Order: sequence, then structure tokens, then C-alpha cells
Amino acid sequence: MDTFDCLIVGTGPAGLGAAFHLSDRHPGIKILLLDKEGMTTGGLRNDCKMNFTFPIGFPREYWDRKKADEMITLVKEHLHPRIMPKHNIAIYKQRAQRLGVELIEIKQSHLGTDGGIVLINELMAQIQTRDIEVSLRETMKDIDAERYVAITDKREISYKKLILAPGRQGFSFLQTIMDKLDIPYVDNIVDIGVRIETREEYYPIVRDYYDPKFLFPDRARTFCTNSGKAFVVKEKYQSQSGTHYFSVNGHAFSEKRNGIGLVNFALLKTVGLTQPLASGHTYGEMLGQVVMLMGGGKPIMQRVGDFRLGKRSKEESFNKDLYDFEPTLRSSTPGDISLAMPAKILRVIWKSMKLLDTIVPGVMHPSTIIYYPEIKLYANKPQFLDDYFQAAEDVYAIGDGAGTSRGIIAAWASGIRAAIGILNDF
Ligand SMILES: Cc1cc2nc3c(=O)[nH]c(=O)nc-3n(C[C@H](O)[C@H](O)[C@H](O)COP(=O)(O)OP(=O)(O)OC[C@H]3O[C@@H](n4cnc5c(N)ncnc54)[C@H](O)[C@@H]3O)c2cc1C
Repeated sequence: MDTFDCLIVGTGPAGLGAAFHLSDRHPGIKILLLDKEGMTTGGLRNDCKMNFTFPIGFPREYWDRKKADEMITLVKEHLHPRIMPKHNIAIYKQRAQRLGVELIEIKQSHLGTDGGIVLINELMAQIQTRDIEVSLRETMKDIDAERYVAITDKREISYKKLILAPGRQGFSFLQTIMDKLDIPYVDNIVDIGVRIETREEYYPIVRDYYDPKFLFPDRARTFCTNSGKAFVVKEKYQSQSGTHYFSVNGHAFSEKRNGIGLVNFALLKTVGLTQPLASGHTYGEMLGQVVMLMGGGKPIMQRVGDFRLGKRSKEESFNKDLYDFEPTLRSSTPGDISLAMPAKILRVIWKSMKLLDTIVPGVMHPSTIIYYPEIKLYANKPQFLDDYFQAAEDVYAIGDGAGTSRGIIAAWASGIRAAIGILNDF
């Protein structure tokens, strides 16, 4: 049987962060990086905005500024960010402050979806110069923890340390392993919201600050702003019951590509559930299903003008008559978001949009499109045994899948933290 000091499942930023740190600090260590996909590194492939400022992407239950800053310094050694400049934001900050809204200034670099692929190729070329084996198109299915053996669709692999970094889409896999190993977990947080798409001239702040992070009252925030050659996309998710639903998202290409004059960004509200409804995951999935029903199997889109008047959008709302741009996600259904989104969430989102329109006047132009749903599920969070994300003896769980991160840089940083814990034993 193949035997490794450390088996890492997932070649996203969390897995890579762990692999690089282990091999940097302990060059002789025998590592296998495993991924079920053909092209490695899940999230670096999508838009690749990298945020180097706490708390963006760093869940506060696991991170404080000091710890995050220590890890960010190490992450930079491999990702060499080119931080984008910001201009003229004092006026926006001042307006925000007056309304009880915070505009956080963050250090961010943006490679774009095309630039992300270049970075992935560079990182994989570096991996090949090290003592790290990579196996793509191999899926870990099960574990025999007593024998320290991982079972994949191709073979059994023996490990001394196992790092699980399967990302958000690896939720069901991680859950299977947690159930099998009796790892206790909490699952009560979910982000629900919309994606806004508008003309760049109605949201001109993006010319000065590529991805402005506004924090509104009631745990609402802007997230993942894209401009230039920017598109709204839909992602297909499978629920625990086997049915499918869509969440919208957005991405942009690098500045090298010609822009299309549109901006998109998410406006999300964090929902924390308490007893007796404890599962944020199930709740998010059920909301996704409601939209499948209302949108005929597609996400819903609505013009702000229609929303304001309390009427659904129809095909005519998108016919270039009154309104002046086409949606980039054509495969969504013109409809009525307020029929599908719970009132408490809708109220907060709408209030946040009005606040945003006061800070950046124009964003609520009648032609602006609201897409629903954008759902961020945070997998059930294991209760860790130590500060290094050890979930069971010699089994570590990191990255977005385990809830230790919500973005590329924090995922990479959580990989480093697990690696530090592992190195204590070598
Ligand atoms: C469209 C989109 C755009 C995004 N844009 C940004 C952005 O601009 N900036 C940002 O900071 N974040 C962004 N994110 C979020 C970011 O991608 C994640 O935060 C990050 O990738 C999490 O890293 P991870 O290593 O935990 O998981 P992932 O990157 O998801 O990697 C997990 C890997 O594990 C593999 N895997 C899963 N299960 C198994 C298994 N059983 N066996 C073998 N392999 C398995 C998967 O194939 C995958 O390659 C975006 C996400 C999406 C979907």
C-alpha cells in the first residue's frame, strides 16, 4: 500500500498552503496531494481576488488579527501579491460613517479568472520541483481511521497525518468523515442574499476601489465585487436530499481584457440560527429549492424599478425599452424576489441597498438588476481538539469546507496553521 507522512485531500488554497508550508519547513516529508478534479486548485480558478486584510475571509471564531497577520505574512511568500491602489475613498468613508455603515479598507490583489489559471500553473510547477506527489482525478471516499488508511475510488492509502481540505462543495464528503469519526460539530450559520448588477457609472466607486467592502447594520455586507469584463454566473449545488438548486456568483477577467461597462457584487446577510432549527445548511438548501420552484429551475432576476413598484419583472423588463443593459446571466427567470426570500432577510437587504445608494448615489437606478439567491453555505464546523484545526487524532480539517476560512487567503492561512501543528510532531 502507498504510504505517506501526510495525505492532503484537496488542492485548493487550503491544501496548497499546508503542502507548501510542510515542504518549506521539513523538505524530506513525504506528501501526497489528492484532488478529484482534473485541474487542480478549486477557488484560485475563480476570479482570484486575494484579500490580505483581517477580518476579510477569516471567521472570527478561529482568528484574531494577530494570528491572521502572522499567517498572512507567510502566505505572501508564495503568492507575491500586487496590491491594488485605492483613491478618493475618504468621501465614501465619511458618508458611510454618518449612516452607521463601515467601509473597510483592505489590501487586495486581483488576477482575474485568466490570471488565476496562470498562478495555478506556476504553483503546480513549483510543487513538481519538491518532494510532493500529486494525484488528480482521484476521489477520497472513506476512511479507516484505526488503520490510518484513506480509501479512494482507486486504492487504499496509508498516512501518518491526514488533512481534509475539500472546500465548500466537499461538504457531504466532510460530513461523512465527521460522522464516521464521531467528530462533534456546529452548523448554525448561513449567508443569504442577492447579487446586484449595474452599470459601472452607477457604481463609480469601483474605479477607485476595486472591491469595496461595506459593513451594514444587522450583519449585512457587500462581498465579491467584479468590474471590467465582469459576469454574473450560476453554480449548481446538490442538496443533501439529492436535489439540485442554483446559487448565483460573479467573476471578472483580468484588466488585460476589455471591460463591458458592468459591475456586479453580492449583498449578503449572515443568518445565525438557534434552537430548534439548528442547521444553516438545510435552511440554505430549502431556500435554494424555493427559488427552483418560483424560477422554473433557474435563479430569479428583478429590476430595481419593478421591485420598488412591488411588481414582478417580466421579459419586457429586459427588452432594452426603458432599461439600458442586458443581464449577463441570461439564464435566470424574470420574477419577484419578495415571493421567494424570507421577509426578515429581505428587509435587511433592501435597507442596506438604500444605505448604499445614499453613499454611492446611482446604484439603485431602476435598471439595476437584483439576482436571487446568492447562498454561502458554511459547512458544519468541527469542534477542534487544538489550535491547529485537528478534528480527530491526526486528522485535520481546514479551509472553507471546515469553516476555518471564507476566501483564498484565509484558506491558505488555515493550511499553514494545520501544517504548523503537524510539524510539532515531526
Ligand atoms: C465563482 C467563485 C468565485 C470566487 N471568487 C473568490 C475570490 O475572488 N476571492 C476569494 O478570496 N475567494 C473567492 N471564492 C471563494 C474561494 O474559492 C474559496 O474561499 C477557496 O477556494 C477555499 O479554498 P479551499 O481550499 O478550502 O477549497 P477549494 O478551493 O474549493 O478546494 C477544494 C478542493 O478539494 C477537492 N475535493 C473535494 N472533495 C474531494 C474528495 N473527496 N477527494 C478529492 N478531492 C476533493 C475539490 O475538487 C477542490 O479542488 C470564490 C468562489 C467561487 C465559487
